[in-house]
Amino acid sequence: MDEAANIWAVRSGQDDKLPSIVFGSHIDTVPNGGKYDGALGVLLALEVMTVFKENGVSTRHPLELVSFSAEEPNPFGLSTFGSRAVSGKIGWEQLKGVRDDKGQLLTEALRLAGGDPERFEHARRKPQDFAAFLEVHIEQGKRLLTRDIPIGIVTAIKGIYREEVTVKGEANHAGTTLMHDRKDALMAASEMMLALESVCMNQPADETVGTVGKITNYPNAANIIPGKVQFSLEIRGSSTEEIQQMIGEWEKRAAEVAERRGIHLERRLVLDQAPVQMNPLVRSVCTAQAEQLGYATYGLGSMAGHDAAHMAALTRAGMLFVPSLDGKSHCPEEESRLEDIEKAGNVLLHSILALDSELDG
Ligand SMILES: [Zn+2]
Repeated sequence: MDEAANIWAVRSGQDDKLPSIVFGSHIDTVPNGGKYDGALGVLLALEVMTVFKENGVSTRHPLELVSFSAEEPNPFGLSTFGSRAVSGKIGWEQLKGVRDDKGQLLTEALRLAGGDPERFEHARRKPQDFAAFLEVHIEQGKRLLTRDIPIGIVTAIKGIYREEVTVKGEANHAGTTLMHDRKDALMAASEMMLALESVCMNQPADETVGTVGKITNYPNAANIIPGKVQFSLEIRGSSTEEIQQMIGEWEKRAAEVAERRGIHLERRLVLDQAPVQMNPLVRSVCTAQAEQLGYATYGLGSMAGHDAAHMAALTRAGMLFVPSLDGKSHCPEEESRLEDIEKAGNVLLHSILALDSELDG
């Protein structure tokens, strides 16, 4: 176990000076969650290690199995904790004094989990330590199931762009103000929200999605024309270009609405988390191995964040998705079929062997 409470299992290769091929996921889950989530990826990694041992398979590269700590959002507000520690994205500075709402210190919780807060930076690894990283995870959606395809090859982990939009009109009497004299902030905001939907519906990448999930209307009274509206605008997509294109198109439509209705528009950037592309070589190796095993594959973006997004900062990273029955996840009904799990395990095993023979650095 490392200082960030990640669990590692290392198996020597023929040449231990070569960087490791790493595979695994996480075993923590959410309250009232299911039994698959990341745990499946860790168990499959363990199974692959076991099969290598039982069959006396030796690899050129050393192999490392990893079970990352605290991947899910937790009371300390630090999700993907273990992989962020390994990739150097969090350090001792971010740990100090952090408490959950019961008052427990994160450093205490880390110590209880087997970590070492004082030596936290030692959990950090270097790009030259690794040749590749591969994570198996359940899809947590229905795209594989509806296409009846057992193996998902993740193309990218989606970026999230979020703004707070403020629409300023004029509050006035709902009875005495004639329709043509109004600057109704809520009606203007409604048009802008529908514009977001239409922009997202009419673009070719069906995995680029837009949402208005939060809205506040002022003064929010039945007999007053709304003077101000604030809403969240969120776009998620697989590439920065796609996201920027959606924002650009929405911007034009929103400006037109503002102009026509004579209202004022203010925008504040809240979050701009870039998408993370999965490595093309790892993707093609996984696809080729699945094809050789006779399994159909489908390339898809990950709608959720994963440890692989942080490992991608260190090494060639890839992910395999297992179909989720009914698309359910983070609930007790979470389920995947044993035959699909077996296929993912086979693709993982053969991809590790293929990467071992193809990669040198
Ligand atoms: Zn997970």
